[in-house]
Amino acid sequence: MTSESLTYLLLGILIFGFLMPRILEYLQVSMQQQTVPPILADYLTDTKLLEAKSYQKDNFKFKLITSSFTFLLTVFFITQGWFGAIDSWIGGFGFSPLLDSLLFFGLVFIASDILSLPFDYYSTFVIEAKYGFNKTTLATFFSDKMIAYLLSLLVGGGLLLIFLWLIHFMGPNFWWQFWIIASVFMVLVNVGYTAWIIPLFNTLTPLAEGEVRDKLLQYAAKVNFSVKHIFVMDGSRRSAKANAFFSGFGKQKKVVLYDTLLEQHPPEELVAVLAHEIGHYKKKHLKWGMLVSVLEVGILLFLLGQVVFSENMSLALGGTTLSVPLNIIGFTMLFAPLSMVMGIGMNWLSRKHEFEADAYAKETFGGKPLAEALKTLSVKSLSTIHPHPWYVFVNYSHPPLLERLERLER
Ligand SMILES: [Zn+2]
Repeated sequence: MTSESLTYLLLGILIFGFLMPRILEYLQVSMQQQTVPPILADYLTDTKLLEAKSYQKDNFKFKLITSSFTFLLTVFFITQGWFGAIDSWIGGFGFSPLLDSLLFFGLVFIASDILSLPFDYYSTFVIEAKYGFNKTTLATFFSDKMIAYLLSLLVGGGLLLIFLWLIHFMGPNFWWQFWIIASVFMVLVNVGYTAWIIPLFNTLTPLAEGEVRDKLLQYAAKVNFSVKHIFVMDGSRRSAKANAFFSGFGKQKKVVLYDTLLEQHPPEELVAVLAHEIGHYKKKHLKWGMLVSVLEVGILLFLLGQVVFSENMSLALGGTTLSVPLNIIGFTMLFAPLSMVMGIGMNWLSRKHEFEADAYAKETFGGKPLAEALKTLSVKSLSTIHPHPWYVFVNYSHPPLLERLERLER
């Protein structure tokens, strides 16, 4: 393929990647019915339903603006050859190719972060605040940013250095060598998530003795699940939205409940939420999820290997000679449709796992308390009651509320 037709191909993919999600979002916001389903009558009022609808519309408009901005900017960068211009400018300093590549990505990262800052700010302090979700102060917002920068610099920068070094010095073998490193890293992050990453942003405290803890432990003992650590996380520092999650394997496994969850649910419902999380563990979903992610990374790295040494890709992006960073940028655009298909597959698997974890909670504890907990969670977070099936198919990692309730209360 000539470099010129490659440029057109990239533009075509970019247009598709911009329009497709917007169409699905449009279908999603346009289709909701305005009546409260009987199953939610005790939880949801017509006013609340309208509020949820308005929250989704605000998010839809916001998404439309941010994605249009990114889309237009990228189109300009491609058609004007700006990616190539930056690459040539850095090349002019006379550093080594490895350092050039590092500088290129450093620059792209800083520029895109500065550009997205006003959007992040607006989403947190205008949209989320309007619906009473935002609890983040300006100080927390910026300290979060700073910690994230430091993490990106140390961890992301380190990984990027290894990655680029392998490409520059190991040639076509780089993909499987980096695949091994990336896989080890992914497992480490998963195991150490609650121990290393969460404490940078939040405070974890062991769940206090009392009725809730007794009931949780009683249930865990009943299903033979040795739980050493149940933590409460101060999620309320940032958002009123509630959540619970689980991380780690073997002896390292930890359950984390948001303080907002503890406040909003009676003990029975909390046990049901824990039962759902234990369901994920017992059905080996965490291991499957990890395996699928590792395979996905392997496939992407292998395909990158087919593009990263192509001179035409560099020329298509306005470069004058073969350039590794230009080819990596080109690769991420070229394979966006494939990433989308993989994302759909991952979401499908995740929804299947959610049903299985619900079924586990129903079998071992009862469907009613979990159904009740899900109703409260969905209503409080203003989630969509009647989502569009196509939107669900592509984007939902969890099945729609009504489908889950139907199975739980069957
Ligand atoms: Zn789940």
